[in-house]
Amino acid sequence: MATKKSSVQAIRGMHDVLPEQTPRWQYAEKIIRKVLASYCYKEIRLPIVEKTELFKRSIGEVTDIVEKEMYTFDDRNNDSLTLRPEGTAGCLRASLEHGLLHNQVHRLWYYGPMFRHERPQKGRYRQFYQLGVETYGMSGSDIDAEIILLTDRLWKELGIRDKVRLELNSLGTTEERLVYRAKLVEYFKQHIEILDEDSLRRLETNPLRILDSKNKDLQSVISDAPELMDYLGEESRSHFESLTSMLDKLGIKYQLNSRLVRGLDYYGKTVFEWITDDLGAQGTICAGGRYDGLIEQLGGKANHAIGFAMGMERLLLLLEQLENLPIRRSVDVYMILVGTEAEKEGLPLAEFIRNEVGGIKLQVNCGGGSFKSQFKKADKSGAEYAVILGEDEVSRGEVSLKPLRADQEQKNMQRNDLIQLLRDKINSDIK
Ligand code: ATP
Ligand code: MG
Repeated sequence: MATKKSSVQAIRGMHDVLPEQTPRWQYAEKIIRKVLASYCYKEIRLPIVEKTELFKRSIGEVTDIVEKEMYTFDDRNNDSLTLRPEGTAGCLRASLEHGLLHNQVHRLWYYGPMFRHERPQKGRYRQFYQLGVETYGMSGSDIDAEIILLTDRLWKELGIRDKVRLELNSLGTTEERLVYRAKLVEYFKQHIEILDEDSLRRLETNPLRILDSKNKDLQSVISDAPELMDYLGEESRSHFESLTSMLDKLGIKYQLNSRLVRGLDYYGKTVFEWITDDLGAQGTICAGGRYDGLIEQLGGKANHAIGFAMGMERLLLLLEQLENLPIRRSVDVYMILVGTEAEKEGLPLAEFIRNEVGGIKLQVNCGGGSFKSQFKKADKSGAEYAVILGEDEVSRGEVSLKPLRADQEQKNMQRNDLIQLLRDKINSDIK
């Protein structure tokens, strides 16, 4: 006798989004697209796999992502490829490859899964979705303000504005960071006995990243460290000041956080994060900054870029905390078909209704069953109405309508009257 095979399970940290959850995702995605369109940002679609070299060159060899989080493999030609851990590098690669940066400005967005081999926990997964926004060719702080404004509107439209706060910093220029870096190394060397293994390594390779450490034992030595803000030159300082004064004018509150250095190497000048206190340790739902330097690093001519990425799962966790999201029901009408004749007429009638009643969500009972069992399914579907077609209705060329959510009688009617009634009801529902 054959033994039952054990079932194959999903990869740890890579989640299915089940049908009961997708309406919430679609709701968020719809609002995101609407907001992006209202600022005239255009979608770009990018491959999920890129050459490993792209990420090593852009994200930086001494970062969590490149050191330990990438899904890298050799393909059949022995090329080293990597599942994208983030989208900025790929977006810039594509834009350079297709000449989008040549005397032009661009405001772009992309949406899709990213992959990082991290320890899975609430709000931290190995496959997760990001919305990424990247802008090219604009050097002023006005575009910095615009993308922050856009995120601010996004939170408002999603109804989570009171759950997130903005933190802001300037990382200055490469030269300014070098001077600061030397000061920082000097400082941390005076406290070397407190540093953990990771920080000791970073002291040599990427000391600013020590400021980003999540180790609680390091927090007090980190909070007394010299601040980058004090090492900014004239230009960086005025860029930052004009950004903050624009945010003031727009009424967007922010906290300056001189420890905000971001995990990736390619940032300079403005960096920001939107943080929530409602999700525990995984509190950053959106993070971004200016990365002018990356363009030359990837072989382009000197240019300007600023962008951000938002984590969709964390956003969804926040939306779950809201009551009564305005999500339209997934079934308006459930069609019950009793008897062979009715079953034959069901699909054509349903199609007629879909043609006549724009936007209607109509589910036909397929696979037969007694009236009682179909009625149960109709109720369970969440539909507002059941349209019933039985022997009597077929012979008279009529249909019956039964409201499922109100205490009202079933009514016989002509097909045209049904159309009129559904049009009125559905139109008042679709906004
Ligand atoms: P964290 O400090 O939380 O690890 P990060 O600095 O690595 O975040 P970014 O690379 O800036 O994150 O990515 C932008 C956003 O994408 C994050 O703010 C977060 O919302 C989301 N994100 C990043 N990594 C994950 C993950 N493993 N699972 C789910 N969401 C993630
Ligand atoms: Mg991370």
